[in-house]
Order: sequence, then C-alpha cells, then structure tokens
Amino acid sequence: MARYTDASCKLCRREQQKLFLKGDRCYSPKCALTTTTFGRKNTPGQHGRTMGKQSEYGMQLREKQKVKRIYGVLEKQFRSYFKMAERKPGQAGENLLIILESRLDNVVYRMGFASSRKEARQLVLHNHYTLNGKKVNIPSLLVKAGDKIEVTGKSMKSPKFKELQEANQDKVVPDFLSVDFNKMEGSVLTAPTRANIDIPIEERLIVELYSK
Ligand code: SF4
Repeated sequence: MARYTDASCKLCRREQQKLFLKGDRCYSPKCALTTTTFGRKNTPGQHGRTMGKQSEYGMQLREKQKVKRIYGVLEKQFRSYFKMAERKPGQAGENLLIILESRLDNVVYRMGFASSRKEARQLVLHNHYTLNGKKVNIPSLLVKAGDKIEVTGKSMKSPKFKELQEANQDKVVPDFLSVDFNKMEGSVLTAPTRANIDIPIEERLIVELYSK
C-alpha cells in the first residue's frame, strides 16, 4: 500500500507547524520543532528554500498537504473524500474534516488505543481491534454512531497495549467518543463535529483549491 515514508518531523518542518505525527513525543520538549526548527524560515534539506510570502494558490496547496499529512491520506483518497463531502448537506470543508475524523485509524488514536494516527493505522492493519465484535483491518473504514471498538483479548496481553492502558487511564477523549480503559473498549456516541477537531486547519482553503 502506498504511504508517506518521509521522516515525520520533516513533514512538520515543511509545513512550519506541528502536525502531531509522533504521538507523545509531539507534546514533549523533544519535539523537533520545539528544539531546533521553530523560527527557521527554510524548508527541510541542505538546500531548503526560504519561506517567503506565499501566493494564494501556495497557501491553498499547503493547507491541503497539511491535512493529508495529519490524517496520513494520499491524494487519490483525499480527493474522493472531498467529492463525498461535496455531496453531503452542509459545508464541503467541514464535511471533509468530519469524514477524515471518522476514519477507523483516527478514532482508534483518538480513543487512546494507539499513540499516533500512524501507529493506529499499523495496529489496525495487524488485526489488533474488533469493530462491533468482528476483527477489522481496514484503517480507512468510516465509523458511525453506535459503533463499538475493542482491543482484542490476545492483543491486550502484549506489552504495547498494557503500556497504552496505563499511560492513558486519565486521558480525556473527545465528546463524540466514550472509552473504558479498564476494558480497553470504546464507543462512538455521535458523529464527530467540527468542534472536535482541535488542530488549526483552514478548510476553506482546500475547498477553494478544489473549486478552481
Ligand atoms: Fe511534528 Fe511530532 Fe516531530 Fe514535533 S515530534 S516535529 S509535532 S512529528
């Protein structure tokens, strides 16, 4: 499966913004942007370009790239999500973010059953969760209100999940989810809303880009 393979921190530096791609590290002083690159006005690489004033198109493009990187989605799928978002009632940009937020890998991450979206994708692919009692290995699957996600009994015995369970006991999950960390199971209470997405995103720029 095609996937971004760039070092995660390099992607943040490219966007000059934290994209939270590495779990706990992103919230610690070890974050590469905190330690070295905030304030640097050049893109990654030996001959990184200086970040000057961006054109309107440049800003729209960067915003789209940023959101794709946050959710780990490639262009083809991102565009198909946008088409889906346009067909739904309401604002296309907001709908797009809600669709991305409903992906199984994102929900697993937001429940605290993985330390980053990237890790969530890997763990879903390796059958560590059930959805409504059935094993599931499709990270892009869109969950809906009433869905129940559990870490499988076998996976619960692994140090990885024991560690997550311990580390996330006091985690506050978004209000469209509820989680029981003792059982490592969670439910989707409602569809996510725009207010549940706390990363600074200007979705109108993406709509403008795709509307050209
Ligand atoms: Fe981005 Fe996280 Fe790396 Fe910081 S630690 S640069 S937020 S991926």
